Amino acid sequence: MTDATDSRVAASGDALPRYGVFIDGRECAAVEDQWYATHGPFDGEAWAEIARASAADVETAVDAADRALSGPWSQMSASERGRCLMRLADLIVERAPQLAEIEMRDNGKLATEVTGQVRYTAEYYRYYGGLADKIESSVIPTDKKGVFAYTRYEAKGVVAIITPWNSPLSLTTWKLAPALAAGCTVVVKPSEFTSASMVEFAKLFEEAGFPPGVVNVITGFGNEVGEPLVTHPKVAHIGFTGGDQAGRRIYELAARHLKTVTLELGGKSPQIVFDDADIEQAVKGVVSGIFAASGQTCLAGSRLLVHESIHDEFVERLVAFVADARLGDPLDSETRIGPIATPGQFRKIMEYIEIAKGEGAHCALGGNSRPELGAGQFVEPTIFTGVTPKMRIAQEEVFGPVLVVMPFTDEDHAVELANDTSFGLAAGIWTRDLHRTMSMVERVKAGTVWVNNYRATSYTSPFGGFKQSGIGRESGVDAIREYLDTKCVWISSDLQVANPFVRR
Ligand code: NAD
Repeated sequence: MTDATDSRVAASGDALPRYGVFIDGRECAAVEDQWYATHGPFDGEAWAEIARASAADVETAVDAADRALSGPWSQMSASERGRCLMRLADLIVERAPQLAEIEMRDNGKLATEVTGQVRYTAEYYRYYGGLADKIESSVIPTDKKGVFAYTRYEAKGVVAIITPWNSPLSLTTWKLAPALAAGCTVVVKPSEFTSASMVEFAKLFEEAGFPPGVVNVITGFGNEVGEPLVTHPKVAHIGFTGGDQAGRRIYELAARHLKTVTLELGGKSPQIVFDDADIEQAVKGVVSGIFAASGQTCLAGSRLLVHESIHDEFVERLVAFVADARLGDPLDSETRIGPIATPGQFRKIMEYIEIAKGEGAHCALGGNSRPELGAGQFVEPTIFTGVTPKMRIAQEEVFGPVLVVMPFTDEDHAVELANDTSFGLAAGIWTRDLHRTMSMVERVKAGTVWVNNYRATSYTSPFGGFKQSGIGRESGVDAIREYLDTKCVWISSDLQVANPFVRR
């Protein structure tokens, strides 16, 4: 195998830096020594080459992770594992600017957002580092005499983590931190569009005290390496965030092999604004819910349901708030809306805008691309009114800066509209009425409900979807259970084993 770090060092003047696969503590070229270019969404320029791994690399990476399961990692106590996670957290804080810069180059998110997001991942490793030695098992009272029954929680084994391009290190961390705290070993398959930051990140693990092979990274495409990884017999669990199509495929493949999964598949989340809401706060909350990261977040509040009595005023204020938002270079501190991360995603968003217009929705703001900016991969913040619940634009995830607005008449109508999609990831409720708050929280079908705020997530709080938004939960105490198997142990203190052939 060629050493990718050597070839990076040896690269001549204009050769692009290379990011290889990271297996058994070492960065190297893929078995077939194939590379592909990764591009910056703002200028469209190729800035690095990524190893194009194949099933052969999956084999090597899973073998390394499997060997690591029975190596020094298995000899570490849960407290020692926890300390590795805490040291990793410190290293992340130190290296956050470099890691964030790589990530921005690849997905075009705003500098302000990415640096904070990468630094915040450190808190997940601290939290799960602390939790590692606090998973207590139970003594089980049974109806059998002379036995002592108790549970043990054991690491599931090798975990595959498959992530998308919108928040690479952050979404990886939501799975990686609890998996490591549980004692699993891991093979990460980052998005083909944003792999570099994960390869760079993997180099911190040795410094933090993790034995080689505990964390491995294979780069490349979903069909070429994602599928062989999911179906590999030694992979016990798959943690996935991404689109619902890939999610369904992974679930089907996992089911054939009876593997467990955690799936986080996006949504079409409602923001519900009642006539008694603090309108100024609600406008800011709705804007940040849909236009932050150019709408490329799973939790985007992409359906605005607003009480009919304030509909026109609210839309007017929204439009006024967003109209002047500057689109441009994500590194510029004046930029409010960056480019769309990939050409495919850009085309998809523009198609949805055409679909909405074709369905008869009224474009109250935006609705165009901005070809003169950067490499032209920009979509204006877009607001559609006159939307009806069955339109595709009201039902399907766009994953871009496109908001649809629908009026409601009363609380029952708001609930009916809010729950009228196949998704159930999140919801925002804006009201000052406590009774209404309690009632809405109960009736809205979503894994997260924010009242008078939107987008808050934390390492302490479970996150995941109802309905087709996913399976399982990430973050918080519960998430570690996704990576543990429960074993029930029966110890007999009565050594008399009953003769099975004597009738009683
Ligand atoms: P995707 O779901 O296709 O890919 C996500 C990850 O899964 C990538 O690492 C990809 O290589 C891998 N993958 C794809 N097919 C696979 C397969 N058959 N087996 C194993 N791994 C596979 O996401 P994308 O191409 O980046 O975007 C597609 C759509 O998904 C977007 O248009 C967007 O709507 C949505 N999306 C959702 C989220 C989210 O957080 N829910 C994030 C990114 C994209």
